[in-house]
Amino acid sequence: MQIAIDGPAGAGKSTIARRLADKLGFVYIDTGAMYRCITWKAIKNEVDLADAGQLTNLARDTHIEFRQGSSHQLVFCDGQDVSSAIRSHEVNAAVSKVASHPEIRRIMVRQQQHMASNNSVVMDGRDIGECVLPEAEYKFFLTASIEERARRRQAELTATGLGHELEKVKIEIEERDKSDANREVGSLKILPDSIVIDSSSMTIDDLMNLILDTIRGSGYAV
Ligand code: C5P
Repeated sequence: MQIAIDGPAGAGKSTIARRLADKLGFVYIDTGAMYRCITWKAIKNEVDLADAGQLTNLARDTHIEFRQGSSHQLVFCDGQDVSSAIRSHEVNAAVSKVASHPEIRRIMVRQQQHMASNNSVVMDGRDIGECVLPEAEYKFFLTASIEERARRRQAELTATGLGHELEKVKIEIEERDKSDANREVGSLKILPDSIVIDSSSMTIDDLMNLILDTIRGSGYAV
């Protein structure tokens, strides 16, 4: 089974996707982490983020891997644990620009489809329902008010020691959403077959129950 969870930044996609994958025994694939790895490596190597050719060469030469840590999933880029480094403000500010290059998206989508080819998966991102898993049994579009998303993202950042003022976090995610929604390929959008959930006033347990009820409602025993 394939479950796609798309939506804007800070909507709680990764938290719910991880919990859902644990509960169902599926593989969780955080596609945002993959675009973040390319961005992190491009910044480290001082690659011009507007230069599609250089970025494409870099992406082709990058090995991204997810490994299970003691409490959460870790992200490795060319064998190095970059789980924290890819969440930096610098990467946040640049990732949407890197993700706007169609050739970078083609490389990432191919890898994501390969990861999903032999497993039941919960995959979160922006273009999963449209481009990566167009045949997914479930396509959720998860959103929440901008205030709530900024608050959640700030709490996440604070927990990892990268705290920031609420207003700055809000501006950062608004800019990223605008750029993600307006690119030519793989843009953030609600699809005709998306199940839209506004989680602004939901707890994570409420959200989990709603998603599980939706899956059960169509006959799957979960
Ligand atoms: O999900 P996360 O906020 O970590 O994603 C970081 C960025 O990666 C997004 O803002 C977007 O620019 C890009 N992304 C994408 N397509 C995906 C997942 C993420 O373009 N499927």
